[in-house]
Amino acid sequence: MSSTLRIVNGKVYDPANGVDGEVRDICVQDGKIVEDVPPDARRIDASGMVVMPGGVDIHCHIAGPKVNLARKLQPEDHRFDVHPRTPFTRSGTGGTVPSTFATGYRYAMLGYTTAMEAAVPPLGARHTLEELHDTPIIDKGFFVLLGNNVLLYQLLKEGRREEFRHAVAWWLNAARAYTPKLVNPGGAELWKERNANITDLDDEIPGFGLTPRQVIEALVDVTNELGLPHPAHIHCNNLGIPGNYKTTLETMRTLEGRRAHITHIQFHAYGGEPGGRMTSKAPEIAEYINTHPEISADVGQVMFGRATGMTADAPLAWMLRQVSGNKWVNADVEHESGCGIVPFVYQERNYVHALQWAVGLELFLLSEDPWRMVLSTDHPNGGSFLSYPRLIRLLMDREFRNEQIRGQPTCHTPDGPAGQPGTGVHFAGDRHHHPCRSGAAAGPARQGSLGRRRGCGHHHLRGERRQGEDVQHAALCDQRRQGDH
Ligand SMILES: [Zn+2]
Repeated sequence: MSSTLRIVNGKVYDPANGVDGEVRDICVQDGKIVEDVPPDARRIDASGMVVMPGGVDIHCHIAGPKVNLARKLQPEDHRFDVHPRTPFTRSGTGGTVPSTFATGYRYAMLGYTTAMEAAVPPLGARHTLEELHDTPIIDKGFFVLLGNNVLLYQLLKEGRREEFRHAVAWWLNAARAYTPKLVNPGGAELWKERNANITDLDDEIPGFGLTPRQVIEALVDVTNELGLPHPAHIHCNNLGIPGNYKTTLETMRTLEGRRAHITHIQFHAYGGEPGGRMTSKAPEIAEYINTHPEISADVGQVMFGRATGMTADAPLAWMLRQVSGNKWVNADVEHESGCGIVPFVYQERNYVHALQWAVGLELFLLSEDPWRMVLSTDHPNGGSFLSYPRLIRLLMDREFRNEQIRGQPTCHTPDGPAGQPGTGVHFAGDRHHHPCRSGAAAGPARQGSLGRRRGCGHHHLRGERRQGEDVQHAALCDQRRQGDH
């Protein structure tokens, strides 16, 4: 039986097809957008609402062993944010790390249709697949952690390059992963050996005579040789350390001419000296990416409020525990990875947090190609994916943004410094609109990543696996509500 739908009176944004805010109808037949449908097709009146391609969350943490560990660590989240059962949807819990059902429903209600879990050790792949299977409505996949894999290190150490390539391919296939993920390459070995960490791309990884630079090059090359649809995601060394922009730039220079994705780059765009006062180096990072089309990034925006630090970078989790004093758990994954979880609150009055917030916005606003500087909070690390409407408003509404900037004691306003001087935060080139406009969430489709599979982001209108019409209705209502404040 064919299903047909006509969405009428909505303001349509479709960057891939050059439609920029036209009020027009959208017709859908059997999950595909078509020219026209019969007059008796079901109708949704989207008057006063925006109709746009489904959002693709290119990098988030929504399923698998570390996510479950974070759920277990925060029972208070389950109590204060209960997601009740309805005639069409199952029950769940929310907070910064929602249960599987709530994750799918809540993404769908934001207009997101795809989310990619960004860090799964091969040993956790089956657990992850089961949780993703339980995550309703949205499309999803995951990236497999290979940047600290001792068997791959062994093959590299012995110069067995061809077997290294085969092993990467085997792991991707066996885990059912979309692309490799590298997290603080080499860091896990030092952490496991003596609770130390990598500080430089040319540090030696103990026991292997390798350097992070060699590991990064080898894995990026193999990802590209294998013709994977999406580049390897790299969480660079020195996350969160003042002065780390040098490591980030050096990582990108090492990969010059080679396709790669630098993830949550906001956390890697700081000036200053380790242990000293952090400054913004967003202009330097944005400039490099603007001039190197082979590199893409997602921002990893910090949003004020509750978050959960959740990472395969175990030494980083320990550092977060030290600065926050919060409850925390670290867990090693034998031969493959590490992991750490720390609940965290980003505070407007905290210099470092406010700077991180500003650096993220700078990266968006200084980026000339929004298809390669993708919207993310690295959910739930910089904040929940539920903060995306607010983040999109920060990017699209200059008035609102300036108001928020003026409220920050540590940021410069576009018109000059406010509050504490000399923080080095730049809001150069302040634009009326973020250049991606409503396409912000659809960036990954243009990158030849998920778009290759689906054409573009339109598939959010497909009826497949939809739990009930109320979800669709709620998503539209939610968009309207978000636009109201
Ligand atoms: Zn991440």
